[in-house]
Amino acid sequence: MIASKGYAAQTPESPLTPWNFERRDLGPHDVLIAIEYCGVCHTDIHLTRNEWFPGIFPMVPGHEIVGKIAAVGSHVKKFKVGNRAAIGVMVDSCMECEDCRNGQEQFCNVSPVVTYNNLDHSGKPAYGGYANNIVAPEHFALQVSDSVDLAATAPLLCAGITTYSPLRKWGVGKGHKLAVVGLGGLGHMAVKFGLAFGAEVTVLSTSAGKREAAKTLGAHHFVVTKNEEELKAAQRSFTHIIDTVAADHDINPYLALLKTNGVYMNVGMPVQPWQLSSFTLVTGNKVVAGSGAGGLPETQEMLDFCAENNIVSDIELIDIKDIQTAYERMLKGDVRYRFVIDMATLK
Ligand code: NAP
Repeated sequence: MIASKGYAAQTPESPLTPWNFERRDLGPHDVLIAIEYCGVCHTDIHLTRNEWFPGIFPMVPGHEIVGKIAAVGSHVKKFKVGNRAAIGVMVDSCMECEDCRNGQEQFCNVSPVVTYNNLDHSGKPAYGGYANNIVAPEHFALQVSDSVDLAATAPLLCAGITTYSPLRKWGVGKGHKLAVVGLGGLGHMAVKFGLAFGAEVTVLSTSAGKREAAKTLGAHHFVVTKNEEELKAAQRSFTHIIDTVAADHDINPYLALLKTNGVYMNVGMPVQPWQLSSFTLVTGNKVVAGSGAGGLPETQEMLDFCAENNIVSDIELIDIKDIQTAYERMLKGDVRYRFVIDMATLK
């Protein structure tokens, strides 16, 4: 076994604290990554606090992982020791079902293993990236260009692919009017991709104080959703909306902002189900769609696209001992736009 250390929640009620644990020894197709940075996703808060369902504790969260290859199994082809590498939201799957064969391993319906809060194929808990290392089959490790800012690349592994994938699927580009609901970790990446794909981008935010920051990101317009006048003026004006909100909210006022044939792409995962009227959908032929992270081929495509187009996340680098404060600040929407843990601070 490989000795590992990280930060874990021992129970859903306890703060994250230092914890020593073990990873499995490398199989022939596995790589060992020495983690340098890990992004902090709102999902980490949902899961460590049992907001969605009962979790597996102790829980080491983190699924926006970047670092360097420290060791490789005997059959590994894609990586050599010293290469940069990354892990996103999953670390294993059956590799044989229809979804796995189609490069949508995140929807494996036989034996998916998400990066943490899950059991691996040997029945042991999988531990995430708030740690000094991680072991995964090479198929689930992504290649990262040597030219990019590694810390600012970490959030691409979840916030990046989760927004890139639906914008690509629904063909958002030139001539489209895209609205991004919620300017947080996912939201700011949706703004960056929307602009890179050629769309006219509007931010729909509950925080009036983010207006200037949204402009700095390049957004063309900014609407404070708590301001009824501003919301009314935006009715029937968007071809696409991407909803990245982490908190419970009513989507009906946002659906009213779609043009006829508009598409509402949801990626946020608040706890309470939505109330949706059939009249809202029927009027204007609206599409409401979901999207879950992205498969391995598309995640690699997104990383390569970002490297070619100088796209990274806007981050605040933190010491791992400040993770609780980071969570509290995220809950207040007080981060521009992603906390990333500097794993050199893990002593
Ligand atoms: P985040 O950084 O905390 O951002 C969420 C944003 O939501 C906030 O910055 C805020 O933006 C907005 N917001 C907060 N409360 C709101 C409210 N009551 N009404 C409307 N807007 C509100 O979170 P994140 O890391 O981007 O994650 C967002 C959600 O996506 C989480 O639920 C997460 O679990 C989920 N997620 C899903 C996937 C997937 O595969 N689909 C992958 C990763 C994450 P403003 O201040 O601008 O309003």
